Amino acid sequence: MYLYNSATRKKEQFKTHTPGHVEMYTCGPTVYHFAHIGNLRSYIMEDVLEKYLRFEGYDVNRVMNITDVGHLSGDSDEGEDKMLMGARREHKTVMEIAKFYTDAFFADCEKLNIKTPDVVQPATGLIPEFIEMVQGLMDKGYAYFAGGNVYFDTSKLQRYHVFFDHDEEDLHVGVREGVEEDLNKRNKNDFVLWFTKSKFEDQALKWDSPWGVGYPGWHIECSAISLKYNGEYLDLHCGGIDNAFPHHTNEIAQSESYLGHPWCPQWFHVHHLNTGDGKMSKSKGEFLTVTLLEQKGYDPLAYRFFCLQSHYRKALVFTWENLDNAALAYKKLIARIAALDPSDGPVDGEVLDEYREKFIKAVGNDLNTSLGVTAVYDALKAKTNDATRLAVIGDYDRVLGLSLTEKAAAKREADAKAAAGATSAQGFTVTGEGDPEIDALVLQRANAKREKNFAEADRIRDELKLRGIELTDVPGGTTWKFSKKG
Ligand code: AMP
Ligand code: ZN
Repeated sequence: MYLYNSATRKKEQFKTHTPGHVEMYTCGPTVYHFAHIGNLRSYIMEDVLEKYLRFEGYDVNRVMNITDVGHLSGDSDEGEDKMLMGARREHKTVMEIAKFYTDAFFADCEKLNIKTPDVVQPATGLIPEFIEMVQGLMDKGYAYFAGGNVYFDTSKLQRYHVFFDHDEEDLHVGVREGVEEDLNKRNKNDFVLWFTKSKFEDQALKWDSPWGVGYPGWHIECSAISLKYNGEYLDLHCGGIDNAFPHHTNEIAQSESYLGHPWCPQWFHVHHLNTGDGKMSKSKGEFLTVTLLEQKGYDPLAYRFFCLQSHYRKALVFTWENLDNAALAYKKLIARIAALDPSDGPVDGEVLDEYREKFIKAVGNDLNTSLGVTAVYDALKAKTNDATRLAVIGDYDRVLGLSLTEKAAAKREADAKAAAGATSAQGFTVTGEGDPEIDALVLQRANAKREKNFAEADRIRDELKLRGIELTDVPGGTTWKFSKKG
């Protein structure tokens, strides 16, 4: 696979320290609020990357942290602990907030077919390891104690690695204006490894340490968690682009200084999901969640489909209209797959291999997911039988994660049931826009009317209306159409 590497700012052949095995780390969510669909864009693209690597035959060990302490409202050590803000907002304890939003995060992931990483580690569960790493940095002269906190001394580095090609705006995300400069810092870029009570009197979670009772900085958790579960040599580090600086830059500084050797050669950053007024952000308070999409009648996988249609290295603009288009395209795609006949076999292994090669060529070029989706349409037209087409699509879906064959099978079954029920409506014609599921509902409504079950007939009409479908009763039947097309 060829993958763009933010550390070298080049598209490179993907390499690993151990052949066939990938040690992969992902910065997890800060669990003080629901994940918004922007956060989830990052996790969807990272999930596709992991699945693609497995598809190519790699064995992957993927590790993720859960930030439940130490992430301040400014990413560079200013402001208040985000968890504390969440707890205060909801009159709950920090640990209650952490549990609630961690569960909510994984529930969203499940709906979006995002696989849970092999290791998930909440930061609060590994405090002794953080202390050990901070102590190691102190012993090696990379850290100093000032004003009650332990700081990393960036002047001791040969190179304070910054991912230079990121937008200025992204680099400054999280750094709030008007925040007072921390006078304990010897150098502007120095950052906190360990806070003590001298910084926040009201910090909820504190632990004893050689430097006093306090809590870890945000960056140290990822370095220490990755060291514990990925080992000393990481192959691939992922995160949203706002994490590149200062968070990932600081992770590199800590890990390489502590280990005394290069740490992670490949960095994968997902660009932001933006709304009309800019980056979607949890701290702004108002944001879109998976639950909201569901409440509005969207299948969460239509959002995954929407994300896959564009490249992870481009900012993606969210509008309802764009999502409507994706949802309609996704639905039509499922309908086309459902129209394939699984009994039209047998599966042709040669065709399967040939199409697999095509997919690798397309998606393996810097995770080009939109070409991956296009490959599904190509598979529908493959010169072979339906069972082979279905097998190719099922194979692709191991990477895309769109439940294509499962949803198509469910639709096939529902359509068959509806067709069986339709016999009782003989002599009644439904004319629509080619969706058997809608046709079936329209027939059900006709049957309900015939049985004088008008409440049921109205309920079906209302349901169809909600789905944007307009009915017109004509002699001998009903016609239907989409009232607003995306
Ligand atoms: P957080 O929960 O704030 O720590 O962020 C979780 C992940 O979402 C990180 O990898 C962030 O870089 C990423 N992220 C934050 N905002 C966005 C956005 N608007 N679009 C895409 N990813 C984002
Ligand atoms: Zn991290």
